[in-house]
Amino acid sequence: MNLLKNNFPGLIVYPATEDDLRSAVAFAFKYRIRVVARCSGHDFNSRSSGYGVMLIKTKNLSAVAYDPAKETVTFGAGANHGIVYAALAPLGRVYIGGQAKTVCPAGCLSGGCHGLLTRQHGLGADNVLSIRLILYNGTAVTLSPTSHSSLFYAYLGAGANTFGLAASFTARTHPAPEVLLQFKAQLNMFAPNGSGLPPTASALSTFFMNVSFMQALPINVAGNIRIEAGLLNVDMFYLGAAKDAAASVATIAPIFQSPFVVPGSTKNFTWPTLLDLALNNYPPATSIWARKFITNVLVPPKQEALTEAIDTITSRKPTMWLWFVYGGHVRNGSAPYVSQGMRAAMYEAEITTSWQDPNEDEDRMASVHSYLDVMYKVSPYTYINEYTSWGGKYNPMPDWKTRLFGDKYDELLKIKKTYDPCNAFVAQFGIGSDLPQMACKVRK
Ligand SMILES: Cc1cc2nc3c(=O)[nH]c(=O)nc-3n(C[C@H](O)[C@H](O)[C@H](O)COP(=O)(O)OP(=O)(O)OC[C@H]3O[C@@H](n4cnc5c(N)ncnc54)[C@H](O)[C@@H]3O)c2cc1C
Repeated sequence: MNLLKNNFPGLIVYPATEDDLRSAVAFAFKYRIRVVARCSGHDFNSRSSGYGVMLIKTKNLSAVAYDPAKETVTFGAGANHGIVYAALAPLGRVYIGGQAKTVCPAGCLSGGCHGLLTRQHGLGADNVLSIRLILYNGTAVTLSPTSHSSLFYAYLGAGANTFGLAASFTARTHPAPEVLLQFKAQLNMFAPNGSGLPPTASALSTFFMNVSFMQALPINVAGNIRIEAGLLNVDMFYLGAAKDAAASVATIAPIFQSPFVVPGSTKNFTWPTLLDLALNNYPPATSIWARKFITNVLVPPKQEALTEAIDTITSRKPTMWLWFVYGGHVRNGSAPYVSQGMRAAMYEAEITTSWQDPNEDEDRMASVHSYLDVMYKVSPYTYINEYTSWGGKYNPMPDWKTRLFGDKYDELLKIKKTYDPCNAFVAQFGIGSDLPQMACKVRK
Protein backbone atom coordinates (compact mmCIF):
# COMPACT_ATOMS: atom_id res chain seq x y z
CA MET A 1 0.00 0.00 0.00
CA ASN A 2 2.80 2.42 0.85
CA LEU A 3 4.60 3.06 -2.43
CA LEU A 4 7.65 4.56 -0.74
CA LYS A 5 8.83 1.08 0.09
CA ASN A 6 10.39 -1.24 -2.47
CA ASN A 7 11.00 -4.23 -0.28
CA PHE A 8 10.02 -6.98 -2.66
CA PRO A 9 9.72 -10.59 -1.44
CA GLY A 10 11.81 -13.46 -2.82
CA LEU A 11 9.05 -16.04 -2.68
CA ILE A 12 5.26 -15.79 -2.51
CA VAL A 13 3.11 -18.57 -1.09
CA TYR A 14 -0.68 -18.87 -1.18
CA PRO A 15 -1.72 -21.50 1.38
CA ALA A 16 -5.23 -22.87 0.93
CA THR A 17 -5.38 -24.88 4.16
CA GLU A 18 -3.90 -24.74 7.63
CA ASP A 19 -1.64 -27.65 6.65
CA ASP A 20 -0.28 -25.65 3.71
CA LEU A 21 0.48 -22.81 6.09
CA ARG A 22 2.27 -25.17 8.47
CA SER A 23 4.39 -26.65 5.66
CA ALA A 24 5.35 -23.22 4.37
CA VAL A 25 6.44 -22.00 7.82
CA ALA A 26 8.37 -25.22 8.54
CA PHE A 27 10.11 -25.03 5.14
CA ALA A 28 11.08 -21.41 5.70
CA PHE A 29 12.50 -22.17 9.12
CA LYS A 30 14.50 -25.12 7.79
CA TYR A 31 16.18 -22.89 5.22
CA ARG A 32 16.33 -19.82 7.49
CA ILE A 33 14.10 -17.72 5.26
CA ARG A 34 12.32 -14.85 6.98
CA VAL A 35 8.55 -15.24 6.77
CA VAL A 36 6.07 -12.38 6.51
CA ALA A 37 2.29 -12.79 6.48
CA ARG A 38 0.00 -10.54 4.50
CA CYS A 39 -3.75 -10.34 4.60
CA SER A 40 -4.95 -6.98 3.21
CA GLY A 41 -1.54 -5.26 3.02
CA HIS A 42 -2.97 -2.25 4.88
CA ASP A 43 -0.07 -1.97 7.30
CA PHE A 44 1.07 1.66 7.36
CA ASN A 45 4.75 0.70 7.69
CA SER A 46 4.79 -1.89 4.90
CA ARG A 47 5.33 -4.56 7.52
CA SER A 48 3.36 -7.05 5.46
CA SER A 49 6.24 -7.40 3.01
CA GLY A 50 10.02 -7.46 3.15
CA TYR A 51 13.10 -7.71 0.97
CA GLY A 52 13.76 -11.31 -0.04
CA VAL A 53 11.27 -12.79 2.43
CA MET A 54 8.83 -15.65 1.96
CA LEU A 55 5.61 -13.68 1.69
CA ILE A 56 2.62 -15.71 2.80
CA LYS A 57 -0.57 -14.35 1.31
CA THR A 58 -3.49 -15.66 3.32
CA LYS A 59 -6.34 -14.64 1.00
CA ASN A 60 -7.33 -18.27 0.30
CA LEU A 61 -7.78 -18.92 4.03
CA SER A 62 -11.00 -16.95 4.19
CA ALA A 63 -13.76 -19.45 5.03
CA VAL A 64 -16.30 -18.29 7.63
CA ALA A 65 -18.54 -20.59 9.71
CA TYR A 66 -21.17 -19.61 12.27
CA ASP A 67 -21.95 -21.95 15.19
CA PRO A 68 -25.58 -21.26 16.17
CA ALA A 69 -25.38 -23.30 19.38
CA LYS A 70 -22.44 -21.30 20.73
CA GLU A 71 -23.25 -18.08 18.82
CA THR A 72 -19.60 -17.89 17.73
CA VAL A 73 -17.96 -17.30 14.38
CA THR A 74 -14.80 -18.99 13.08
CA PHE A 75 -12.98 -17.41 10.16
CA GLY A 76 -9.71 -17.96 8.37
CA ALA A 77 -6.89 -15.48 8.88
CA GLY A 78 -7.28 -14.34 5.25
CA ALA A 79 -10.84 -13.06 5.70
CA ASN A 80 -11.33 -9.30 5.79
CA HIS A 81 -14.07 -7.57 7.81
CA GLY A 82 -16.34 -7.34 4.75
CA ILE A 83 -16.24 -11.14 4.35
CA VAL A 84 -16.99 -11.78 8.03
CA TYR A 85 -19.76 -9.16 8.22
CA ALA A 86 -21.31 -10.54 5.00
CA ALA A 87 -21.47 -14.08 6.41
CA LEU A 88 -23.20 -12.89 9.60
CA ALA A 89 -25.56 -10.21 8.21
CA PRO A 90 -28.28 -12.66 6.99
CA LEU A 91 -28.17 -14.37 10.39
CA GLY A 92 -28.86 -11.17 12.32
CA ARG A 93 -25.51 -11.37 14.15
CA VAL A 94 -22.43 -9.10 14.26
CA TYR A 95 -18.73 -9.66 14.80
CA ILE A 96 -16.94 -6.81 16.61
CA GLY A 97 -14.35 -5.52 14.18
CA GLY A 98 -13.12 -2.40 12.44
CA GLN A 99 -15.03 0.09 10.31
CA ALA A 100 -13.20 -0.61 7.06
CA LYS A 101 -14.44 -3.59 5.05
CA THR A 102 -11.02 -4.14 3.45
CA VAL A 103 -9.05 -4.42 6.71
CA CYS A 104 -8.48 -7.96 8.03
CA PRO A 105 -9.05 -9.01 11.62
CA ALA A 106 -5.66 -10.86 11.51
CA GLY A 107 -3.69 -7.60 11.62
CA CYS A 108 -6.36 -5.46 13.26
CA LEU A 109 -6.77 -7.78 16.28
CA SER A 110 -3.04 -7.75 16.86
CA GLY A 111 -3.41 -4.17 18.11
CA GLY A 112 -6.86 -4.47 19.71
CA CYS A 113 -9.07 -3.35 16.79
CA HIS A 114 -11.60 -0.59 17.30
CA GLY A 115 -14.90 -0.10 15.51
CA LEU A 116 -18.30 1.49 15.85
CA LEU A 117 -19.52 -1.16 18.31
CA THR A 118 -16.45 -0.92 20.54
CA ARG A 119 -18.09 1.35 23.12
CA GLN A 120 -20.85 -1.23 23.59
CA HIS A 121 -19.05 -4.55 23.30
CA GLY A 122 -15.33 -3.82 23.79
CA LEU A 123 -12.54 -4.02 21.26
CA GLY A 124 -12.33 -6.77 18.65
CA ALA A 125 -9.60 -8.37 20.81
CA ASP A 126 -11.96 -8.59 23.79
CA ASN A 127 -14.34 -10.74 21.75
CA VAL A 128 -11.87 -13.36 20.49
CA LEU A 129 -12.27 -16.79 22.09
CA SER A 130 -9.51 -18.80 20.43
CA ILE A 131 -6.77 -18.57 17.80
CA ARG A 132 -5.07 -21.30 15.75
CA LEU A 133 -1.43 -20.21 15.54
CA ILE A 134 1.45 -21.74 13.58
CA LEU A 135 4.73 -21.56 15.49
CA TYR A 136 8.18 -21.05 13.94
CA ASN A 137 8.76 -24.81 13.39
CA GLY A 138 5.38 -25.46 11.77
CA THR A 139 3.63 -26.70 14.92
CA ALA A 140 -0.04 -25.65 15.14
CA VAL A 141 -1.38 -24.68 18.56
CA THR A 142 -4.83 -23.65 19.75
CA LEU A 143 -4.65 -20.56 21.93
CA SER A 144 -7.41 -19.52 24.31
CA PRO A 145 -7.78 -18.13 27.85
CA THR A 146 -7.20 -21.70 29.11
CA SER A 147 -4.63 -23.00 26.58
CA HIS A 148 -1.30 -21.19 26.08
CA SER A 149 -3.13 -18.21 27.59
CA SER A 150 -0.09 -15.90 27.71
CA LEU A 151 0.46 -16.38 23.97
CA PHE A 152 -3.28 -15.98 23.27
CA TYR A 153 -3.31 -12.59 24.97
CA ALA A 154 0.06 -11.60 23.54
CA TYR A 155 -1.33 -11.98 20.00
CA LEU A 156 -4.25 -9.70 20.92
CA GLY A 157 -2.12 -6.62 21.50
CA ALA A 158 1.21 -7.31 19.85
CA GLY A 159 0.72 -10.26 17.49
CA ALA A 160 1.43 -8.93 14.02
CA ASN A 161 4.05 -11.28 12.52
CA THR A 162 5.68 -11.57 15.93
CA PHE A 163 4.87 -14.82 17.75
CA GLY A 164 3.72 -17.03 14.89
CA LEU A 165 1.20 -16.89 12.06
CA ALA A 166 -2.52 -17.06 12.76
CA ALA A 167 -4.44 -19.59 10.67
CA SER A 168 -7.93 -18.83 12.03
CA PHE A 169 -9.86 -17.14 14.81
CA THR A 170 -13.05 -17.96 16.74
CA ALA A 171 -14.93 -15.02 18.23
CA ARG A 172 -18.11 -14.21 20.10
CA THR A 173 -20.94 -12.70 18.05
CA HIS A 174 -23.69 -10.35 19.23
CA PRO A 175 -27.23 -9.72 18.04
CA ALA A 176 -27.14 -7.20 15.19
CA PRO A 177 -28.28 -3.70 16.23
CA GLU A 178 -31.96 -3.25 15.28
CA VAL A 179 -31.36 0.26 14.05
CA LEU A 180 -28.25 1.75 12.39
CA LEU A 181 -28.44 5.48 11.82
CA GLN A 182 -25.80 7.83 10.45
CA PHE A 183 -25.76 11.62 10.83
CA LYS A 184 -23.39 13.69 8.75
CA ALA A 185 -22.77 17.43 8.77
CA GLN A 186 -20.09 20.00 8.19
CA LEU A 187 -19.47 22.41 11.04
CA ASN A 188 -17.57 25.69 10.92
CA MET A 189 -14.77 25.42 13.45
CA PHE A 190 -15.65 28.84 14.93
CA ALA A 191 -19.10 30.30 15.56
CA PRO A 192 -20.36 32.36 12.63
CA ASN A 193 -21.06 36.07 13.16
CA GLY A 194 -24.46 36.75 14.66
CA SER A 195 -24.67 33.32 16.29
CA GLY A 196 -24.99 34.83 19.76
CA LEU A 197 -22.07 32.67 20.98
CA PRO A 198 -19.00 34.32 22.52
CA PRO A 199 -16.30 35.04 19.91
CA THR A 200 -14.05 32.41 21.48
CA ALA A 201 -16.60 29.60 21.10
CA SER A 202 -15.53 26.82 18.78
CA ALA A 203 -17.28 23.65 17.66
CA LEU A 204 -14.39 21.70 19.19
CA SER A 205 -14.54 23.27 22.66
CA THR A 206 -18.35 23.28 22.75
CA PHE A 207 -18.84 19.63 21.79
CA PHE A 208 -16.00 17.39 20.73
CA MET A 209 -13.31 18.47 23.15
CA ASN A 210 -15.73 18.96 25.99
CA VAL A 211 -15.28 16.06 28.40
CA SER A 212 -18.65 16.44 30.13
CA PHE A 213 -20.56 16.56 26.84
CA MET A 214 -18.81 13.58 25.24
CA GLN A 215 -18.70 11.41 28.37
CA ALA A 216 -22.46 11.88 28.83
CA LEU A 217 -23.19 10.37 25.41
CA PRO A 218 -24.68 6.86 25.61
CA ILE A 219 -22.47 3.96 24.54
CA ASN A 220 -24.67 3.15 21.54
CA VAL A 221 -23.41 6.37 19.93
CA ALA A 222 -19.99 6.48 18.21
CA GLY A 223 -18.41 8.36 15.37
CA ASN A 224 -15.57 10.26 13.81
CA ILE A 225 -14.63 13.77 12.87
CA ARG A 226 -12.27 14.93 10.12
CA ILE A 227 -10.92 18.43 10.46
CA GLU A 228 -9.85 20.19 7.32
CA ALA A 229 -9.58 23.83 6.26
CA GLY A 230 -11.48 25.20 9.27
CA LEU A 231 -14.34 22.75 8.79
CA LEU A 232 -15.32 19.77 10.90
CA ASN A 233 -16.71 16.92 8.84
CA VAL A 234 -18.77 15.14 11.46
CA ASP A 235 -20.02 11.57 11.12
CA MET A 236 -21.98 10.22 14.10
CA PHE A 237 -23.74 6.87 14.35
CA TYR A 238 -26.44 5.31 16.47
CA LEU A 239 -26.32 1.50 16.57
CA GLY A 240 -28.81 -0.06 18.95
CA ALA A 241 -32.34 -1.06 19.85
CA ALA A 242 -35.29 0.69 18.20
CA LYS A 243 -36.74 1.62 21.61
CA ASP A 244 -33.57 3.53 22.65
CA ALA A 245 -32.99 5.34 19.35
CA ALA A 246 -34.96 8.53 20.06
CA ALA A 247 -33.34 9.14 23.46
CA SER A 248 -29.81 8.45 22.19
CA VAL A 249 -30.19 10.55 19.06
CA ALA A 250 -31.48 13.43 21.25
CA THR A 251 -28.10 13.50 23.03
CA ILE A 252 -26.23 14.29 19.80
CA ALA A 253 -28.93 16.60 18.38
CA PRO A 254 -27.26 19.75 19.87
CA ILE A 255 -24.29 19.16 17.56
CA PHE A 256 -26.46 19.06 14.44
CA GLN A 257 -28.76 21.92 15.50
CA SER A 258 -25.91 24.23 16.57
CA PRO A 259 -25.03 27.53 14.88
CA PHE A 260 -21.75 25.92 13.80
CA VAL A 261 -23.53 23.81 11.15
CA VAL A 262 -22.90 24.84 7.54
CA PRO A 263 -26.40 25.35 6.07
CA GLY A 264 -27.47 22.50 3.80
CA SER A 265 -24.63 20.19 4.87
CA THR A 266 -26.59 17.75 7.04
CA LYS A 267 -27.38 14.28 5.69
CA ASN A 268 -28.98 11.31 7.45
CA PHE A 269 -28.85 7.64 6.46
CA THR A 270 -30.49 4.47 7.73
CA TRP A 271 -28.50 1.27 7.10
CA PRO A 272 -30.14 -2.17 7.19
CA THR A 273 -27.01 -3.97 8.47
CA LEU A 274 -23.45 -3.37 9.63
CA LEU A 275 -22.36 -4.83 6.30
CA ASP A 276 -24.28 -2.16 4.35
CA LEU A 277 -22.76 0.52 6.55
CA ALA A 278 -19.25 -0.87 6.01
CA LEU A 279 -19.78 -1.26 2.24
CA ASN A 280 -21.03 2.30 1.82
CA ASN A 281 -18.64 4.20 4.03
CA TYR A 282 -15.32 3.30 2.45
CA PRO A 283 -14.27 3.75 -1.16
CA PRO A 284 -13.32 0.66 -3.17
CA ALA A 285 -9.93 -0.69 -2.13
CA THR A 286 -8.29 0.40 -5.37
CA SER A 287 -9.01 4.09 -4.79
CA ILE A 288 -7.44 4.32 -1.31
CA TRP A 289 -3.82 3.97 -2.38
CA ALA A 290 -1.41 6.83 -1.90
CA ARG A 291 1.94 7.82 -0.46
CA LYS A 292 0.82 8.33 3.06
CA PHE A 293 1.87 9.35 6.55
CA ILE A 294 -0.29 8.74 9.56
CA THR A 295 0.18 8.90 13.30
CA ASN A 296 -2.05 9.12 16.32
CA VAL A 297 -2.32 9.66 20.04
CA LEU A 298 -4.84 8.03 22.34
CA VAL A 299 -6.39 10.96 24.19
CA PRO A 300 -7.63 10.32 27.75
CA PRO A 301 -10.94 11.87 28.91
CA LYS A 302 -9.16 14.68 30.74
CA GLN A 303 -10.17 18.22 29.94
CA GLU A 304 -6.56 19.40 30.20
CA ALA A 305 -5.40 16.96 27.50
CA LEU A 306 -8.34 17.77 25.24
CA THR A 307 -7.77 21.50 25.59
CA GLU A 308 -4.14 20.96 24.61
CA ALA A 309 -5.33 18.89 21.65
CA ILE A 310 -7.54 21.79 20.49
CA ASP A 311 -4.55 24.11 20.49
CA THR A 312 -2.61 21.56 18.49
CA ILE A 313 -5.40 21.04 16.01
CA THR A 314 -6.28 24.67 15.48
CA SER A 315 -2.71 25.92 15.14
CA ARG A 316 -1.31 23.32 12.73
CA LYS A 317 -2.02 22.37 9.17
CA PRO A 318 -2.26 18.65 8.31
CA THR A 319 -5.73 17.17 8.33
CA MET A 320 -6.74 15.66 11.64
CA TRP A 321 -9.19 12.89 12.43
CA LEU A 322 -10.83 12.23 15.77
CA TRP A 323 -12.36 8.83 16.35
CA PHE A 324 -14.94 8.80 19.11
CA VAL A 325 -15.11 5.02 19.14
CA TYR A 326 -13.38 4.49 22.46
CA GLY A 327 -15.14 6.96 24.75
CA GLY A 328 -13.31 5.69 27.83
CA HIS A 329 -15.59 2.67 27.83
CA VAL A 330 -13.28 -0.16 26.79
CA ARG A 331 -11.12 -0.29 29.91
CA ASN A 332 -12.85 -3.42 31.28
CA GLY A 333 -11.97 -5.62 28.32
CA SER A 334 -10.36 -9.00 28.81
CA ALA A 335 -7.25 -8.65 26.61
CA PRO A 336 -4.49 -7.38 28.95
CA TYR A 337 -1.86 -6.51 26.34
CA VAL A 338 -3.98 -4.06 24.40
CA SER A 339 -2.39 -0.64 24.86
CA GLN A 340 -3.39 0.86 28.21
CA GLY A 341 -3.89 4.16 26.43
CA MET A 342 -6.47 2.59 24.12
CA ARG A 343 -8.48 1.18 27.02
CA ALA A 344 -8.86 4.55 28.70
CA ALA A 345 -8.95 6.76 25.61
CA MET A 346 -11.85 8.99 24.85
CA TYR A 347 -10.53 9.60 21.37
CA GLU A 348 -7.95 8.46 18.98
CA ALA A 349 -6.62 11.69 17.48
CA GLU A 350 -4.89 11.05 14.21
CA ILE A 351 -3.04 13.19 11.71
CA THR A 352 -2.83 11.96 8.21
CA THR A 353 -1.49 13.32 4.99
CA SER A 354 -1.32 11.62 1.62
CA TRP A 355 -0.04 12.53 -1.81
CA GLN A 356 0.79 10.88 -5.14
CA ASP A 357 4.04 12.45 -6.33
CA PRO A 358 7.30 10.93 -4.99
CA ASN A 359 9.01 14.31 -5.54
CA GLU A 360 6.92 15.70 -2.72
CA ASP A 361 8.16 13.18 -0.14
CA GLU A 362 10.77 15.35 1.57
CA ASP A 363 8.58 18.46 1.76
CA ARG A 364 5.57 16.54 3.01
CA MET A 365 7.55 14.75 5.70
CA ALA A 366 9.33 17.90 6.83
CA SER A 367 5.99 19.68 7.32
CA VAL A 368 4.48 16.80 9.27
CA HIS A 369 7.59 16.26 11.34
CA SER A 370 7.32 19.69 12.97
CA TYR A 371 3.88 18.65 14.20
CA LEU A 372 4.94 15.47 15.94
CA ASP A 373 6.46 16.78 19.18
CA VAL A 374 3.34 18.79 19.92
CA MET A 375 1.11 15.88 19.01
CA TYR A 376 2.94 13.29 21.14
CA LYS A 377 2.87 15.61 24.17
CA VAL A 378 -0.92 15.33 24.23
CA SER A 379 -0.67 11.71 25.41
CA PRO A 380 2.10 9.13 25.99
CA TYR A 381 0.24 6.39 24.06
CA THR A 382 -0.09 5.61 20.36
CA TYR A 383 -2.13 2.88 18.63
CA ILE A 384 0.38 0.44 17.13
CA ASN A 385 -1.82 -0.17 14.06
CA GLU A 386 -2.16 3.45 13.02
CA TYR A 387 1.17 5.18 12.75
CA THR A 388 3.97 5.45 10.22
CA SER A 389 7.68 5.60 10.81
CA TRP A 390 9.06 7.05 7.62
CA GLY A 391 12.20 5.24 6.46
CA GLY A 392 13.77 5.49 9.92
CA LYS A 393 14.39 9.19 9.20
CA TYR A 394 11.10 10.74 10.21
CA ASN A 395 9.13 9.66 13.24
CA PRO A 396 11.57 7.00 14.53
CA MET A 397 9.66 7.17 17.86
CA PRO A 398 12.52 6.63 20.34
CA ASP A 399 10.02 5.77 23.10
CA TRP A 400 8.27 3.13 20.94
CA LYS A 401 8.40 0.35 23.54
CA THR A 402 6.40 2.29 26.12
CA ARG A 403 4.40 4.40 23.67
CA LEU A 404 3.07 1.31 21.88
CA PHE A 405 3.06 -1.29 24.66
CA GLY A 406 2.93 0.74 27.90
CA ASP A 407 4.60 -1.11 30.78
CA LYS A 408 4.01 -4.53 29.18
CA TYR A 409 7.00 -4.74 26.84
CA ASP A 410 9.17 -6.93 29.10
CA GLU A 411 6.32 -9.38 29.78
CA LEU A 412 5.64 -9.64 26.07
CA LEU A 413 9.34 -10.22 25.34
CA LYS A 414 9.37 -13.11 27.81
CA ILE A 415 6.41 -14.71 25.99
CA LYS A 416 8.12 -14.12 22.67
CA LYS A 417 11.30 -15.87 23.85
CA THR A 418 9.28 -18.87 25.06
CA TYR A 419 7.34 -19.41 21.83
CA ASP A 420 9.74 -18.06 19.22
CA PRO A 421 13.15 -18.85 20.76
CA CYS A 422 15.08 -18.12 17.56
CA ASN A 423 13.33 -14.82 16.86
CA ALA A 424 12.13 -16.19 13.52
CA PHE A 425 9.17 -13.78 13.25
CA VAL A 426 9.95 -10.09 13.15
CA ALA A 427 7.90 -6.98 12.42
CA GLN A 428 9.30 -3.46 12.66
CA PHE A 429 8.60 -2.03 16.14
CA GLY A 430 7.22 -5.41 17.18
CA ILE A 431 8.31 -7.31 20.28
CA GLY A 432 11.96 -8.39 19.93
CA SER A 433 12.39 -6.51 16.66
CA ASP A 434 15.57 -4.86 17.94
CA LEU A 435 17.18 -8.24 18.74
CA PRO A 436 19.15 -10.50 16.36
CA GLN A 437 16.91 -12.56 14.03
CA MET A 438 17.10 -16.35 13.59
CA ALA A 439 19.37 -16.22 16.56
CA CYS A 440 19.76 -19.82 17.60
CA LYS A 441 21.26 -22.96 16.27
CA VAL A 442 18.54 -25.46 15.52
CA ARG A 443 19.17 -28.66 13.58
CA LYS A 444 18.08 -28.46 9.93
C1 LIG B 1 -8.24 2.12 5.23
C2 LIG B 1 -7.88 1.64 6.62
C3 LIG B 1 -8.88 1.57 7.58
C4 LIG B 1 -8.60 1.11 8.88
N1 LIG B 1 -9.61 1.02 9.80
C5 LIG B 1 -9.34 0.53 11.05
C6 LIG B 1 -10.39 0.40 12.01
O1 LIG B 1 -11.56 0.69 11.76
N2 LIG B 1 -10.06 -0.08 13.24
C7 LIG B 1 -8.79 -0.43 13.56
O2 LIG B 1 -8.55 -0.85 14.71
N3 LIG B 1 -7.77 -0.32 12.67
C8 LIG B 1 -8.03 0.15 11.43
N4 LIG B 1 -7.01 0.27 10.51
C9 LIG B 1 -5.66 -0.15 10.90
C10 LIG B 1 -5.52 -1.66 10.66
O3 LIG B 1 -5.99 -2.35 11.80
C11 LIG B 1 -4.04 -1.99 10.44
O4 LIG B 1 -3.60 -1.40 9.24
C12 LIG B 1 -3.81 -3.50 10.40
O5 LIG B 1 -2.41 -3.73 10.53
C13 LIG B 1 -4.32 -4.12 9.13
O6 LIG B 1 -4.24 -5.52 9.24
P1 LIG B 1 -4.33 -6.41 7.91
O7 LIG B 1 -4.14 -7.83 8.32
O8 LIG B 1 -5.54 -6.02 7.18
O9 LIG B 1 -3.08 -5.86 7.09
P2 LIG B 1 -1.68 -6.49 6.64
O10 LIG B 1 -0.88 -5.33 6.16
O11 LIG B 1 -1.88 -7.61 5.73
O12 LIG B 1 -1.05 -7.05 8.00
C14 LIG B 1 -0.74 -6.16 9.06
C15 LIG B 1 0.29 -6.83 9.99
O13 LIG B 1 -0.24 -8.05 10.49
C16 LIG B 1 0.59 -9.15 10.09
N5 LIG B 1 -0.28 -10.28 9.77
C17 LIG B 1 -1.19 -10.38 8.76
N6 LIG B 1 -1.75 -11.59 8.77
C18 LIG B 1 -1.21 -12.26 9.82
C19 LIG B 1 -1.39 -13.56 10.34
N7 LIG B 1 -2.20 -14.45 9.76
N8 LIG B 1 -0.69 -13.92 11.45
C20 LIG B 1 0.19 -13.05 12.03
N9 LIG B 1 0.41 -11.81 11.57
C21 LIG B 1 -0.29 -11.42 10.47
C22 LIG B 1 1.37 -8.65 8.88
O14 LIG B 1 2.58 -9.35 8.70
C23 LIG B 1 1.59 -7.18 9.27
O15 LIG B 1 2.66 -7.09 10.17
C24 LIG B 1 -7.27 0.73 9.21
C25 LIG B 1 -6.25 0.81 8.25
C26 LIG B 1 -6.55 1.26 6.96
C27 LIG B 1 -5.45 1.36 5.94
